[in-house]
Amino acid sequence: MRVDIASLVRPGIARLVPYKNARAEFDSSADIFLNANENSYGAPITGNFNRYPDPLQRSLKVRLACLNATHEANCFIGNGSDEVIDLLIRSFCEPGIDNVIICPPTYGMYEVSARINGVEVREAPLTTHFQLDTDAIVNCADKNTKLIFLCSPNNPTGNALTRADVMRIVDAVHALVVVDEAYWDYSSSASYIGEIERHNNVVVMRTLSKAWGLAGLRIGMAFADSEVIAVLNKVKPPYNVNAVSQQLALDAVENESIVQQWIRLTIRERENVRVLLEELPIVRTVFPSDANFLLVRVTSATEAHGALLRHGIVVRDRSTMLGCEQCVRITIGTSEENNRLIDVLKQCK
Ligand SMILES: *Cc1c(COP(=O)(O)O)cnc(C)c1O
Repeated sequence: MRVDIASLVRPGIARLVPYKNARAEFDSSADIFLNANENSYGAPITGNFNRYPDPLQRSLKVRLACLNATHEANCFIGNGSDEVIDLLIRSFCEPGIDNVIICPPTYGMYEVSARINGVEVREAPLTTHFQLDTDAIVNCADKNTKLIFLCSPNNPTGNALTRADVMRIVDAVHALVVVDEAYWDYSSSASYIGEIERHNNVVVMRTLSKAWGLAGLRIGMAFADSEVIAVLNKVKPPYNVNAVSQQLALDAVENESIVQQWIRLTIRERENVRVLLEELPIVRTVFPSDANFLLVRVTSATEAHGALLRHGIVVRDRSTMLGCEQCVRITIGTSEENNRLIDVLKQCK
């Protein structure tokens, strides 16, 4: 689908003259910088932290775009994916008028962010196999639907969405289809970043918080058509990613091999844990997973959660989420952590 991006942007945002920070106004070399009211004497710690960071994170963006076989102009970096979600909603959804579609059970921030911004949330629940109900999504969409949030692999269910279903939505709606690939590294499916050239309504979100082991740095990304990226750049806070995070993320990208090793280890552990869980009397179902966690239906989620907690192990009780009755979500830990988890669950009746 080719959509008219300009027609999806909130009118006030389209008209907005963005704030021009000192770095945006003058960004070439000079000897003396007296344009940003910084402290010219230095910082009381090592590093050039007296200077504002690059507002567009260009060095990091070039590396991340390259790593994902796309271009700098198709890449946005946020203070975590959570900032990207909020910026998408604030840029494209007029409060009280526009709406977004979500497919529960799914990641909670899409709904929370929309509600904080006074934007209507429409639900098109996943099927019993946690796949898209494409008819429900298409029927739910109207001229005020601006964003459709899909999560693949999905949190909390763990499965990847069927590609043909996602592409059917992309082809059917005049709205942005946001595919959250936070757990993509653990999955065998091809990324939707490859679709952004042909489909200017596809937005792919990624994060360094999961497989990359950098949740503390708060680095989230969006890959999309350059027109969508330009809108996000217009709305974002001027210095949304701090200098330390930019630098450390750049360092991390140079250490990709250890990350690839952890991904392989995690996938192997995930399948070991699955087999062990399936042998336990309290386990009803271990759902298929393309992520670094397993959604597990047990005889009593409260009891399993409580027993683990008494042994100092915390998992997530997801029982109250649609279609997740008596389910706990277990992150794959180190093999030692996983063994301790299994030992405790063995003793549960
Ligand atoms: C963990 C998670 C995120 C959060 O990403 P941050 O970059 O840490 O904000 C986004 N989406 C999903 C589906 C997640 O599970």
